[in-house]
Amino acid sequence: MSSSSKLVIRNIGMILTGRMEEPIMDAECVIAEDGRITAIGKEDDFDTSGSTTEVDAHGTTLSPGLIDSHVHPVVGDYTPRQQQLNWIDSTLHGGVTCMISAGEVHMPGRPKDIIGLKAMSIAAQRWYDNFRPSGVKVLAGAPVIEHGMEEHDFQELAAAGVKFLGEVGLGTVKDGKTAGQMVSWARKYGIQSTIHTGGPSIPGSGLIDADMVLETGTDVVGHINGGHSALPDDQIKCLCENCKAALEIVHNGNERAALLTLNTARELGKLDQIILGTDGPAGSGVQPLGILRIIAMLSSLGNVKAENAWCFGTGNTALRRSLDCGIVEVGRAADFVFVDQAQHAPGKNMLESIQLGNLPGVGMTVIDGIVRTGRSRNTPPAQKVPELTRAPPASLGGGH
Ligand SMILES: [Zn+2]
Repeated sequence: MSSSSKLVIRNIGMILTGRMEEPIMDAECVIAEDGRITAIGKEDDFDTSGSTTEVDAHGTTLSPGLIDSHVHPVVGDYTPRQQQLNWIDSTLHGGVTCMISAGEVHMPGRPKDIIGLKAMSIAAQRWYDNFRPSGVKVLAGAPVIEHGMEEHDFQELAAAGVKFLGEVGLGTVKDGKTAGQMVSWARKYGIQSTIHTGGPSIPGSGLIDADMVLETGTDVVGHINGGHSALPDDQIKCLCENCKAALEIVHNGNERAALLTLNTARELGKLDQIILGTDGPAGSGVQPLGILRIIAMLSSLGNVKAENAWCFGTGNTALRRSLDCGIVEVGRAADFVFVDQAQHAPGKNMLESIQLGNLPGVGMTVIDGIVRTGRSRNTPPAQKVPELTRAPPASLGGGH
């Protein structure tokens, strides 16, 4: 950004903070400067002069942009998995402003030799860092570990900017001892890890059971509800009981296993460990509304208040993944989604409507303090939508 920018959002109806301890905040105004939140509260208390962008929220709900903890991007806004274009842009219309790669595994001809896999990971990290489809933050470049990798490989990957491992188990390493060693090397150099949990996803991938997950000790139990085939119930309960890692529930998994995970985590007082992903693109396709759909599913069938389920897809993921977005808090990235009750959806208000299993309507998205989209083309229409009342002179929507 060449010159300084100032975004003023007024007439906010409610803030969903993303924080489990205080999921709802009563504030009407949020200010962001140069892409960071600088003030949250009452407009009268703030200096709103010099704004470059103004949004009248018209009483809608402001939330952190949703985070998808588990995607499989390849290049740009194209996935070869389902020969699909613009799936990331469509997902932005589902309120997702940040996604984390669990491995670029759908790259045709993906290299599996060590220098090749390192080269591809570093390149993928770069090409998504250099080009954000529709402004969405795609944190990619996630190598899938293979036999023969040594400590220096992880050191080199980290030095080159790699921050996440792809799903352990999608490569040739399928024993907990070897995987655990590599995960601890990765951790030593600041690289986070996740693991494929459950039966094989597609021909060529394999079974990862609870023993292997526990022995490997990743930071995230990737798709604990299977992707798609889930582990037997006793193994899912065992993981909930024994893991301090994030328990990731995905859209492309088994819904019954997702509810078992949620109920077990609740009994154990571990709801702060629940995070959400789609696991798309995959055999099940792409899911532009996937995160909203899991929130509504868990809230309605899992007996969780909507404002708490909302944290699973925002603040919980941000805290577990060490991201600077995902919570409405001064100093964090100004990544927002504005939502409101969908037209003709039952419920006294938006939160009750979600608890009844309905999706909210997305009215606007903001990334790094820049308005990216207006009324969603994919969600049911929101009753109320925010209005852009002042736009910066150049490129509305902010091209990258
Ligand atoms: Zn997987």
